[in-house]
Amino acid sequence: MLRLTGNTKLVGVFGHPVGHTLSPPMHNAAFDALGMDWAYLAFDILPEKLEQALRSLSVLGVVGVNLTIPHKEAAAKIVDELSSSAQALQAVNTVQVKGERLLGHNTDGRGFLRSLAEAGIEPAGEKVVLLGAGGAGRAIALGLMEKKVKSLTIVDCIKDKALSLAQQAQEAGVEVEAWSAEEAGLRQKVESAALLVNATPVGMYPDVEASPVIPTGWLLPHQAVVDIIYRPARTRLLQEAEKRGCRTLNGIKMLVWQGAEAFRLWTGREAPVRVMEEALLQALQEAP
Ligand code: NAP
Repeated sequence: MLRLTGNTKLVGVFGHPVGHTLSPPMHNAAFDALGMDWAYLAFDILPEKLEQALRSLSVLGVVGVNLTIPHKEAAAKIVDELSSSAQALQAVNTVQVKGERLLGHNTDGRGFLRSLAEAGIEPAGEKVVLLGAGGAGRAIALGLMEKKVKSLTIVDCIKDKALSLAQQAQEAGVEVEAWSAEEAGLRQKVESAALLVNATPVGMYPDVEASPVIPTGWLLPHQAVVDIIYRPARTRLLQEAEKRGCRTLNGIKMLVWQGAEAFRLWTGREAPVRVMEEALLQALQEAP
């Protein structure tokens, strides 16, 4: 049970709105399990107050914060230093306060790769189709490039978004193509891939019946299908993929591992990931 004292160290999340966040139960369960006098709180911060709020962290002695919608890109322009992944993405999801300085990190890509590794899905040397070139899609693309996938087909409803991400990927020496979801020829790309990742919000609560971005009749049993949505735990895409005999993975472990990475940055300790996952699953069950 969380107890606050005169020495409690504080971390948290800035978002707007922020009431939906599942990070407080996840991190507070971790502090509790390790007997740490730390607490994690959610702060609803208006976009025009973000800089003031971030600059106040060192004054208040707050150790760090996560950033969620709509602050990730704006924070990249405010912090004093960016990690290589935050620099490449121009988006920050974790801030570390070091004295007066703010260090910006992005743990989404690493969280995604850790979740794949835990599920025994190895993307190195494979053909991958990535649906969605938004914030999460870009972090995932960067992670997959580091893993030296054989090729990356990026699909977005705005082809320009997929194109600009593809240009970045090309510089990393990965064979890469940008597609819009409606283009002919995409079926062949999907069928020849070993891994398909959904990083669009299509199928997310409350729109759980929304059609998957690609026709699921294109999926084949040898494939792994990852949907980074975690609410619901089994999206329509994952249900259909299971029916077609594919291996499937949802976004819960990615959420846990990106949080675990932030936990390590702030505390210098390895996060108790099982405890965090259990807390997250319980919070998801209790969510309205
Ligand atoms: P985002 O920045 O809005 O990006 C989503 C991208 O998908 C946008 O470029 C969007 O295009 C595109 N898209 C939407 N519908 C499409 C369709 N039918 N066909 C092709 N492309 C389509 O959102 P995000 O922050 O990356 O988040 C995406 C999803 O990932 C959300 O469901 C979020 O909850 C989840 N997520 C999970 C984790 C985790 O840890 N598990 C972490 C981050 C995000 P438009 O801009 O034109 O709509």
